[in-house]
Amino acid sequence: MAESRPVRVRFAPSPTGDMHIGGARTALFNWLFAHRYGGKFILRIEDTDQKRTREESLGGILDGLHWLGLQWDEGPDIGGPYGPYIQSERLDIYQKWAQWLVDNGRAYRAYETPEELDEISKANKGMGYDRRGRSLTPDDWARLDAEGRKYVIRFKVPLEGETTVIDLVRGPITVQNEKLQDLVLLKSDGYPTYHLANVVDDHLMEISHIIRAEEWISTAPFHKQLYAALGWQMPAIAHVPVILHPNGGKISKRKHPEAALSYFIQNGYLPEAVTNFLCNVGWNYGVLDEQGNEVQVFTKEQAAAIFDITKVTTSGTKFDVVKLQWLNGEHIRRMPVAELAEKLRRPLEKAGYTVNSDLLLRVTPLIQERIKLLNDVVEVAGFFFREDVIPESPASLIPKKMDAAQTASALQRAYETLAGLPDFAAQTQEAALRPLAESLGLNPGQLFGALRVAVTGKTVSPPLFETMEVLGREVALARIKKAIELLSQPT
Ligand code: GLU
Repeated sequence: MAESRPVRVRFAPSPTGDMHIGGARTALFNWLFAHRYGGKFILRIEDTDQKRTREESLGGILDGLHWLGLQWDEGPDIGGPYGPYIQSERLDIYQKWAQWLVDNGRAYRAYETPEELDEISKANKGMGYDRRGRSLTPDDWARLDAEGRKYVIRFKVPLEGETTVIDLVRGPITVQNEKLQDLVLLKSDGYPTYHLANVVDDHLMEISHIIRAEEWISTAPFHKQLYAALGWQMPAIAHVPVILHPNGGKISKRKHPEAALSYFIQNGYLPEAVTNFLCNVGWNYGVLDEQGNEVQVFTKEQAAAIFDITKVTTSGTKFDVVKLQWLNGEHIRRMPVAELAEKLRRPLEKAGYTVNSDLLLRVTPLIQERIKLLNDVVEVAGFFFREDVIPESPASLIPKKMDAAQTASALQRAYETLAGLPDFAAQTQEAALRPLAESLGLNPGQLFGALRVAVTGKTVSPPLFETMEVLGREVALARIKKAIELLSQPT
């Protein structure tokens, strides 16, 4: 990096609701950048828009980042040398700098009411505020104050020339200064706007690089002028592209449940898969394997080792949930069994099962290859934790080319065979049941199919003999017995 300052980046969410998946991606890119250059990753809460701030949302942000594994080095909960890290606790700082700008002729008081502003804007052909406050004198202020009118502080943008911001992703972005607005810095209630608080904090917190969402791009030239007026160096800046829904348009929490990070937490995704996936939304890991194919499954630490902000794309990227599900399955397969078992507990308990830890540890390897989402455990392995299983229908017990009576008697023979085995290991079962099928004139698939539905309630399940071994002889036999009874009932 050309920059010689120590790398300090920040994720600066506004706590206005559930964390957006785009916010998660912004946080991740900041984290990757900090780790790439051995810098610091700072969490700052931008809660100065009191109307939109929702208290419960702060906890959601902290939980979301913890879940993603994006630990910050300084932040509201852990403090740090540049705190406080919640903007509503820093109001005096913003007020001081707003006043400094006024004192130095770079900002001014404006006394218009919202209604007056509407009219001004209309008369001004939608060009916004007509800068009339610039001509007020201190005497005018005294008079207006005496009338009890409230004022905001607006920034005095230069009216001539142009402003160029060099975006690390997009290159130079230039605007004509006459297009800039005298935006509000400090509201009449003493709260700063986003612009003032953001600029003041990025400077005071010694942020070296701003990595944020594309939606803020239009504010960058204004911010650059604000830095200049304050006599401060603007951090380097990069805007990361929007995330698009596969059907087109921006992915949005209003329309798409998967736009909220909580969707993935609740639906059995692994944070490792989500961060893996998000690395390739707007950036591309791009490492090739020995066959010359792009490596798809990687960790955020691997990504951080080569993360390059200048290679982030400018165009929006589609959010491919199917790919994410596939990745999730890949991460599940790479997990140590005990760790995966712990993660499978929650969905099972949520589904109402009482989960025995030993049983869960033995079930996990049987399903590790078969699930994409943690929540799939309920469908694929719920029968292990249930007292009884009830086949989807008695008919589902009956294999092709057989009838109820034949199935019942085949199951009865299997029951007897299994009951008489010296042990209940999968291999022992198989070694006895294959010859049994043959002696009954059945193909193995017929007998095993009936057994599978009897012990799992389903036509698709983890491998039959391992499943019965884990269930234990007593449970397996009881279920086979139930199935025989079911088949013997008059229909
Ligand atoms: N508070 C802004 C947001 O929620 C942060 C913008 C920035 O990073 O400068 O998106």
